[in-house]
Amino acid sequence: MNNEVIGRVLAFEKKVFQDQHALYSTLARHGQSPKALIISCSDSRIVPEHIMQAQPGDLFVCRNAGNIVPPFAQPAGGTTATVEYAISVLGVRDIIVCGHSDCGAMKGLSGDPADLASVPNVAQWLRHGAAARQVVDRSYPELTNGERVRALSLENVVAQIANLRTHPSVAAGIARGEISLHGWFVDIHEGNVLGLDGNTGKFVVIREHQAFPVALPAAERRASDVEFAQAAE
Ligand code: ZN
Repeated sequence: MNNEVIGRVLAFEKKVFQDQHALYSTLARHGQSPKALIISCSDSRIVPEHIMQAQPGDLFVCRNAGNIVPPFAQPAGGTTATVEYAISVLGVRDIIVCGHSDCGAMKGLSGDPADLASVPNVAQWLRHGAAARQVVDRSYPELTNGERVRALSLENVVAQIANLRTHPSVAAGIARGEISLHGWFVDIHEGNVLGLDGNTGKFVVIREHQAFPVALPAAERRASDVEFAQAAE
């Protein structure tokens, strides 16, 4: 551990914590009630708290390579547990899947699987992005390499939102009309954030004075009308 890192930790104790003592004290006494769950990439350049100008207590954050949400399965992994805890214990109602430009995971997913031979665990993890890869392979015309990685990054957000919906806590929250799903893409070249508009299926740059794009707005939905049938008897 270098001196710079040690210095920063000490500065947290001496200065940062002291400056925010009131906030930390409230959070320590009353616990957390974060406003949203964000599933983002581990990439060091994409810092959800920085993008959202978040304070401690604001965001429940899950970061992994490629902002991936494995579909619900047993045994459950860390992402599954994080999602369940955020919804069922913390009562989070907005879930954001956030991808980004120049993503190493998406480059890996885009390329020849043989190129990932030296990182077999990465290769296995990226299989959760297979749907996005196949969508791009089959539905997009000839793309340059850069365009392909960008298209794949956007389709990956769509695919991970679909995976999110396989999680029982998410499915139940959606049915009750309590949960909104969001798909974002941070462009670190342009310095803007795109949001997935569920109505059009397209990503649009988030702009002031324009409708905020939402992938799946909260709305109660039930497939069966059995409750109403019983009531009518
Ligand atoms: Zn990334």
